[in-house]
This record gives sequence, structure tokens and C-alpha cells, in this order.
Amino acid sequence: MENSTVTLDKIIALCKRKGFIYQSASIYGGLNGVYDFAHLGTLLKKNIRKEWLKSVQATFDDILEFEGGLLGPHAEWEASGHVENFSDPMVDCLNCKHRFRADEIDLKKPCPNCGQTKWTEIRQFNLMFKTQMGAIANDDKANIAYLRPETAQPIFVNFKNFMSTYRIKIPFGVAQMGKSFRNEITPKQFLFRTREFEQMEIEWFCKEETALKDFAIWIESRKKFYADLGLNMAKIRFYEQTEAERAHYSKACTDVEYEFPFGFKEIEGIAYRGNYDLTQHSKFSGKDLAVFDEETKQTYIPHVVECSVGIDRLLLTLLFDAYHEDVVEGETRIMLKLHPKMAPIKAAFFPLVKKLSEPMLAIYKDLKRKGYEVEFDESASIGKRYRRQDEIGTPLCFTYDFESETDKCVTVRNRDTTLQERISIDSIEDYIKKTLNK
Ligand code: ATP
Repeated sequence: MENSTVTLDKIIALCKRKGFIYQSASIYGGLNGVYDFAHLGTLLKKNIRKEWLKSVQATFDDILEFEGGLLGPHAEWEASGHVENFSDPMVDCLNCKHRFRADEIDLKKPCPNCGQTKWTEIRQFNLMFKTQMGAIANDDKANIAYLRPETAQPIFVNFKNFMSTYRIKIPFGVAQMGKSFRNEITPKQFLFRTREFEQMEIEWFCKEETALKDFAIWIESRKKFYADLGLNMAKIRFYEQTEAERAHYSKACTDVEYEFPFGFKEIEGIAYRGNYDLTQHSKFSGKDLAVFDEETKQTYIPHVVECSVGIDRLLLTLLFDAYHEDVVEGETRIMLKLHPKMAPIKAAFFPLVKKLSEPMLAIYKDLKRKGYEVEFDESASIGKRYRRQDEIGTPLCFTYDFESETDKCVTVRNRDTTLQERISIDSIEDYIKKTLNK
């Protein structure tokens, strides 16, 4: 089984061909850096969210769920530092007008697009999407809103609400999954760097005394998460940032990186942020965000450990990791070797020939009604139908043949081994359950 042949182009083509992901607004030429998730992509995302939440909730007891607004006022993003600092250096080629991130190219060399060396000055470009609220659109700060460039700030802004509405005590965490928006100068590598993406973030509020210990617990938990997704851990590394690489307020930061064909790249950031965020929002809002410690009878501003992963980047990681090509019966087949619990479709149901459709359709419909993601396929040869399912990562295919009527059994074929076995129709559901829990 070989997967050394995986390339970004193959992943993009597969996603489009099989209905995972489409370029947004493609009939109008496409919107750069924005993608639409089709049926299979949506199912895969759903599985990622489910596993993430399960993993976060298994790490510590008190984890609240949250869905903050996508738009935030100027004041919020000023306090967080994004209005002033959330920018990338940008440079243009004066000859061909191509735009680049200045930290991604060598300005001593000619333009990679046209070969001339005529650069503009480097300017800082703020990555936030800015808009105006209400009918009277003007640039008054009170009317400015930003699409959030990260999910974290709405959590910090609501910190006092969590404390008072749930009577919860430090330490506790708030978990959020949702869209973020960044006007990236050069969106690229498909889902890796987009302008609209989804994040899964946990903000863990704790006391300073336990923060580094909790940070270490989160790191271990995140390692387990990636291993449990079935990823090849030899391609994952946890990179500890040096003091010079970290934000000024950050006291420890570890990046989770995956080895893509274009190199080791970050998929998640785990950071001990000190008490910077709540301190800033206290200062800018004038609201006291300190808490009272019953033991010491003193007030303090809680510290925060954050784990932040992009769903889209993780989905791309899963596809790269799962993509395999091998030769079966003299034909090259493409297979997504996803962990069964991550596979968008769990099982497919085939009648050997069309006249056997009715009984197989009944079995399929029964499982569908029970909530399983399953497919029914009666067209083309069985071999072709297997390939279709292999390409989207379906772990199991069941075939109803002429003997099924009398022996009340079907043949189940395993995606990874291509081995087949005969099992009773009554045991199909248990067989699927067992495979999903492996
Ligand atoms: P990068 O340096 O790659 O831009 P970052 O350090 O700015 O990433 P964070 O702000 O730490 O990223 O965001 C946390 C996570 O959100 C990232 O690890 C990544 O998975 C995801 N993410 C950030 N920006 C994008 C983007 N433009 N497209 C897709 N996912 C993103």
C-alpha cells in the first residue's frame, strides 16, 4: 500500500469529483480563498467536530459550549490588539502588479511571476474584514464592525457572564467551534490558507499557579486526539516555540505540525497566554473581570491556556493522510484510508443485480432511518461500485446476492484488506458498530 504519490492537485480533484468541496461561486469565476462544503465534506466536518468536542470534554470536567457572534464591535478588536497588530507585510511588483506577502519571498531576487525587480515599499496590511453596521454607513468607530478573525475574543468578552450565569468556579473551559475570517494576502494550498474558515478553540481559565501544569495536560490531550483520529503520528510533530517566536504576553506555546508534501505546517496552536486577554478587556471596557478567590480572600485575573485548531486545515490533513493508491485486479484504485469513525459514509449496500434491489433497499433504509450515514448503489459492476466507495473512504460494502434469499446472509467487503466474509443479515448493524469502534 503506497501513499507517496499524494499531491495537492490529486486531493483537490478528488474533492471536486466526489462532492466533498467546491470552489465558492465557481459559475462566476470563483471567489478566491473561499470554499463550499458539499455533502461528503459536510459529513466529514461533522465527524471532526464530534471527535474534537469529545476529546476536549474528556480532558477536564468543566467545559462549557459556546457559539459567539461573528461580528464584533471596533472596541472589542481594539482591546484585543487586532486593530493595531493583526497584519501581514505586503509588497507589490510594480511591473506585473502581482501581490505577495513580503515575508514569503526574497525581495533581493526578481519577481517570481514576471522576472523583473521593481518592488513597492513594504506595507502592513490588516487581515480583518471591516464593515459598517446600520443604515447610516460612515466611518465613525461606533458604526464599524469586524468579522471575527478568531473565535477566541467573544469567549473572553463573555467571561463574566459565564461566571455569573453558571455559578462555575475557576478552573473551567469554554469550547467553541465556528467561522473565522481573515483577508489573507495570498490564500493558497486549497483549504490550508483560506479567507473564510472554521476554528475549534478551547479557552481554559485557570489560576496562575496551575497554568503550566494544565498546559502540559492539554498538550498530552491534544496528542491523544490526533492519534485517536487515526493519523500517522510519524508525520505529526509538536514544535515548542522559542521565547523570540512567541507573542510578548505568551508564556509557552507549542505548535502542532503535520508533514504535508509542501513541508511541516501548523495545524494547531497551543498557547499559555498569561492573563493578557482578560486584562486588556478589563482595561478597555472599564468592567472589572477579576474573580474573588475564596481561599486566599484576594481577587485576581485568571490565566488562560488556549488550544486552537482549524477544521479546514485538519480536514485537509485527514485527506492527505488517508489518500492511498494501489493496484487491485490490475487496476489502480484510489482509496481514502480514513478511520471508520471519520469516514463520511459508514457502509454501502449493493444488490448483485437490479432484480435483487428490493430486499437490499429495505436493509439500507432501515439503517438510514436509524441514523447511519449509508449509501445504496445498484448501478455498474460490483468492482466499480467498490471503487466508488473506496474513493470516499467507506469502510464496509455489503452485497446481497442470489443465495441471500435462502441463507439470510450477505457478503461484506473490507475497504483496507479487500477481504470478504459472509455474515447474517441480522448481524449487519452490530458489524458496522464494531467497525466504527475499532
Ligand atoms: P498561520 O501562521 O498559518 O497563518 P496562525 O498562527 O496565524 O496560522 P492562529 O491564529 O494560531 O494561526 O490560528 C489557529 C489555527 O487556525 C491555525 O493553526 C489553523 O489551523 C487555523 N487557521 C488560521 N488561519 C487560517 C487560514 N487562513 N485558513 C485556514 N485555517 C487557518
